[in-house]
Amino acid sequence: MEIIAALGELGLGERLLTTPAALAAFSCDGLTAFTARPCAAVLAESTAEVVATVRACHATGTPFVARGSGTSLSGGSLPVAGGVLIALNRLNRVLSIDPESRTAVLEPGVINLDVSRAAAAHGLAYAPDPSSQSVCSIGGNLAFNSGGAHCLRHGMTANHILGMTVVLPDGELTTLGGPSREGLGPDWTGMFCGSEGLFGIAVEVTVSLIPIAEATATFLAAYDSLSAAGDAVSAIVAAGLLPVAMEIMDALAIEAAEASVKPRYPPAAALLIVELEGDRDTVAADTTALEALIAVSGAVSVTHTADPEERALIWKGRKSAFSAVGWLAPDYIVQDGVVPRTQLGRALAEVEALSAAAGIRVANVFHAGDGNLHPLILFDGAEAGALERAEQLAADILSMCVRLGGSITGEHGVGVEKRAHLPLMFSPDDLTLMGEIRRSVDPGELANRGKMLVPMAEGTAA
Ligand SMILES: Cc1cc2nc3c(=O)[nH]c(=O)nc-3n(C[C@H](O)[C@H](O)[C@H](O)COP(=O)(O)OP(=O)(O)OC[C@H]3O[C@@H](n4cnc5c(N)ncnc54)[C@H](O)[C@@H]3O)c2cc1C
Repeated sequence: MEIIAALGELGLGERLLTTPAALAAFSCDGLTAFTARPCAAVLAESTAEVVATVRACHATGTPFVARGSGTSLSGGSLPVAGGVLIALNRLNRVLSIDPESRTAVLEPGVINLDVSRAAAAHGLAYAPDPSSQSVCSIGGNLAFNSGGAHCLRHGMTANHILGMTVVLPDGELTTLGGPSREGLGPDWTGMFCGSEGLFGIAVEVTVSLIPIAEATATFLAAYDSLSAAGDAVSAIVAAGLLPVAMEIMDALAIEAAEASVKPRYPPAAALLIVELEGDRDTVAADTTALEALIAVSGAVSVTHTADPEERALIWKGRKSAFSAVGWLAPDYIVQDGVVPRTQLGRALAEVEALSAAAGIRVANVFHAGDGNLHPLILFDGAEAGALERAEQLAADILSMCVRLGGSITGEHGVGVEKRAHLPLMFSPDDLTLMGEIRRSVDPGELANRGKMLVPMAEGTAA
């Protein structure tokens, strides 16, 4: 094959993988329902190798996909069959931290949590905290504009990316943004963030850091219904409080977390986790206000703690809930719809009704403060038709989110999984324009072909 011969010229040695056995590990990401075999995987160790690999792909017209840690839940890092997969997890150095400007320069394969670990010595942290933060990479976070529990107040990944060096789909190396937000001209950094790898590969990323808060308090409130917990979230925001995180787990998600990491949650139909942070006086005043709000919200029990170990256990239960549902069913689909926060109670009641009508169990664990639902649809893939029924329920939940004024994705991206649902939100003209913008950067649609937008070769919907 022409591309294999071209990659063979790059001196990658054993870091050029071409055998079926070696490529098997790259045939899917966190969404295991989709699989595809690339013709080669390159384990890049330098920017020069990424540039040379992309140039080889461009010269031979071969599609390529960047891969960080492969934790995408929408098939974002699924290879293109017969294409090239460029693994970036060996590019994992924190290149510099500047405590004065509160910035860090990172290679794309740096693990999210390692940024905060490195910054802690300076009293700083990296705010976006996906639940997968102990394994997912900054490059993947950037491509998906990832969120996390603490993005309610601090904002998503895009709010923390200042600049980057990228390899464009023709192999050209260029810089977008810079060390501060005071750049002139179009916001190319903003365009690249969340573009799901369609505009090329980020090889160096400059992020902003935040000071570690002086005080923190974490509340655990138990409710006897999911919609009561959802309504409490709306009431807290309506009262003018802005916690740093507000998360909800339902009974099934609590059961899964207890079976797995044993966070010692109280038994409840729904659990609301609320975290306050700031200076000591603000947290003390907000604690009093929050206690009063929760007291009238119908909570059946409430506790709060500032103890670091107790707080860590609460968050461990929440952040491991996705993987923990593996204790409840052999397979699951995680959905990622968003509804306006004021519609949370109604949306949760509709999820329950759709789940009952389909006869399929759904566990709910989600970023309640952002209205970002994560229904975990449980099924057994060994049963005939079970995957299709689960996918239909997922589609019905997404349609409901759009009907209530929300979106088909909050943070997991469109990938391959939600591509067919884009017309729920965008007109044919919108989609055509998106395709034209994409092809203005990548006429051959080589970068991450088939993700988010339908390629020209496959159809007319751009
Ligand atoms: C248990 C679990 C919990 C999760 N919780 C959350 C959560 O709370 N919030 C959230 O937002 N997501 C969450 N996710 C989803 C996932 O972890 C995120 O989407 C994450 O950002 C993906 O990072 P990654 O390194 O694994 O990227 P990958 O899966 O390898 O890639 C994701 C996308 O980014 C592209 N890409 C990767 N690196 C680059 C680069 N350098 N330049 C350009 N494009 C690139 C890929 O081509 C692909 O399209 C969770 C996943 C799991 C499994």
